[in-house]
Amino acid sequence: MKKPIVAGNWKMYKTPSEGHDFVQKILNLVLEIEKTHVIFCPPFPALFNMVESMPSSFSVGAQNCHWEKEGAYTGEVSTAMLSDCGVEYVIVGHSERRHVFGEPDEWINRKVLAVKEARLIPILCVGETLEEREDGLTKDVLIRQLTNGLKGVDSLSGLVLAYEPVWAIGTGKTATPEQAVEAHQMVRKYLMELYPHQEAEAVSVLYGGSVKPANAAELINSEGVDGFLIGGASLNVESFTSIIKQVEQES
Ligand code: PEP
Repeated sequence: MKKPIVAGNWKMYKTPSEGHDFVQKILNLVLEIEKTHVIFCPPFPALFNMVESMPSSFSVGAQNCHWEKEGAYTGEVSTAMLSDCGVEYVIVGHSERRHVFGEPDEWINRKVLAVKEARLIPILCVGETLEEREDGLTKDVLIRQLTNGLKGVDSLSGLVLAYEPVWAIGTGKTATPEQAVEAHQMVRKYLMELYPHQEAEAVSVLYGGSVKPANAAELINSEGVDGFLIGGASLNVESFTSIIKQVEQES
């Protein structure tokens, strides 16, 4: 059985010291969990110290990276730098990177390949905008983002996917369990067609988009949802802890 994942994407919130205090509070409340894998994804400056003080059963992830090993790329961070910090996961293709910073599928694919090559685990995000959903294009968008994002990826092992409908991120609007199940089925079916069944079944597909304590239990019990990528609710001790505990209890 897959261990459910609860990953907190802090975006550009919390200084390193605020992040340290925050994580200590969470750990005190959830240290005994066994069936859930918790990943903290703070901004870059907090990564090194956070890994140092993180118990081994919890993980730290970065929110982005560059695909080149090194070079004149002002403001960018390589996978080797992240790896040296002890980071294990890297979020790639988050909707804010795609839509706010204009990252095309081709860059996202290069990042996925670079993260895998560095033996880190990409959390590849895919998801449609509201307009695309209303135009009946959800499946087309997911398939396009998966096809382009996974180009050259021979094996799904060491990879996590996240279905994050853009219209649900940071908006308070959550996909209904039915919408989440339907999209997760599209993703899984596509993977089954491209990769060996065992691999396609084993890959974790997270749901992200306004997950909160009030909807966590229902969503985690939705078929095909293997965990969550959480933005807003991961910034608050009570809400993040409550979600982790609910996932643990439902697993
Ligand atoms: C996210 O940032 O990946 C996310 C899902 O944000 P939120 O939970 O705030 O919608």
